[in-house]
Amino acid sequence: TSPRVFTEGVPLVVEDVPRRSAAERAAVLADPGFGRHFTDSMVVARYRAGEGWVDARLTGYGPLQLDPSTAGLHYAQSIFEGLKAYAQPDGSVATFRPESNAARFARSAARLAMPAVPHDAFLTAVDALVDADREWVPTGPDQTLYLRPYMMAVDPFLGVRPASEYLFLVIASPAGAYFPRGVQPVSVYLSEDYIRAAPGGTGDVKCAGNYAASLLAQEQAIAAGCDQVVWLDAVEKRWVEEMGGMNLFFVLGSGADAELVTPELTGTLLPGITRESLITVARELGHPVTERKFSVDEWRAGVADGTVTETFACGTAAVITPVGEVKGRTGDFTVGNGEPGPLTMELRARLLDVQHGRVPDTHGWLHRV
Ligand code: PMP
Repeated sequence: TSPRVFTEGVPLVVEDVPRRSAAERAAVLADPGFGRHFTDSMVVARYRAGEGWVDARLTGYGPLQLDPSTAGLHYAQSIFEGLKAYAQPDGSVATFRPESNAARFARSAARLAMPAVPHDAFLTAVDALVDADREWVPTGPDQTLYLRPYMMAVDPFLGVRPASEYLFLVIASPAGAYFPRGVQPVSVYLSEDYIRAAPGGTGDVKCAGNYAASLLAQEQAIAAGCDQVVWLDAVEKRWVEEMGGMNLFFVLGSGADAELVTPELTGTLLPGITRESLITVARELGHPVTERKFSVDEWRAGVADGTVTETFACGTAAVITPVGEVKGRTGDFTVGNGEPGPLTMELRARLLDVQHGRVPDTHGWLHRV
């Protein structure tokens, strides 16, 4: 095979990496869980202001050596992505819409005053890792290889300013089925004490700090007996935005006439790639989808009068998760009968079928590696 090019003038050097045995791999893949185990390789590329990308390699997975003053560790000039590779029925491996992750990564980089990872360099790095470690792509039902591209400032300097040196990395982690014992609705807590994102902030990009700032609210949700936080808008605390790592959809009506509403992209929520894919799939199934503001009041009243029949969250990790119970200061309610709704489950099955190559990929969403 011809050598891979990271970006113009910079080859992606593929090293011979130490590999674990088939038996060691099988032991991990028997019960991978999520985010606990990593494959044999990783991609690391270095950027220096004035020089651009200077060194890109596929190397053995292992610790990084960082100066204690590494800027990214202090000021969170750090961004990431999340996507998956899926074993296909013909034995090949495909990632799902990686171009969209590359584009979102570029927007995140721009917002955090970081250099761009060129679109093709992002795709090449992800492909190279999946290709090198394709034996780590699990083949069990609903199992996947989760891919984590990320970039951080690595200047050894404590001044607050955009760094001049960065590392871009891609690591991979085999992931088990999100719902090994069948799909379970989650309970959610409306966050009224804390906010995730304000207008003009970083809510619409994937930067590390967004997640650090969300942890206390997530603890509060758990203390209230819930699985997940639902974030409201920062200004009026009236509009539903999204969950900790998933976008939300509301089903209005039922059967063939069911319509979907999802919060519009106001700049304070993350434009999910699953969200965008589901808008397309739902419309193809004949269900209108509206992107607009949706208030907690409309949600509660709709559940009470039967207008809102289902609610679900969506994201790369779990694809679709039904929402059952909703708790908050202003009162608790349960969507439908608390069981996964029919449109929720239909959309879930459709998207999983596309991702796992069980139906034709009519949108060109799968990227063969
Ligand atoms: N919202 C947030 C805050 C997230 O972190 C994620 C996961 N990337 C999502 C929504 C869902 O995005 P996607 O469908 O691209 O995984």
